[in-house]
Amino acid sequence: MGLRFFITILGIWLLFIVIRNAYRKRLAAKAEADKQRPAVDMVQCKQCGTHLPRHEALCDSDDYFCSQEHLLEYKKDISH
Ligand SMILES: [Zn+2]
Repeated sequence: MGLRFFITILGIWLLFIVIRNAYRKRLAAKAEADKQRPAVDMVQCKQCGTHLPRHEALCDSDDYFCSQEHLLEYKKDISH
């Protein structure tokens, strides 16, 4: 009876270790995925190529600009 009890405990313990490792691996993978995702959505100025957060950029249809001047410059460039 003693040996069987010991093997059962060992089995439960091993199962616990395996589940814990799998859980930790999942947590680590999730943390890594969070790290890779940029905190803010970055856009690029169509005129000078500067990267800036979307909420700070000026938006004209699908184009983004770092400033009003660049928006106007870009419009001027494509109009002629
Ligand atoms: Zn610009």
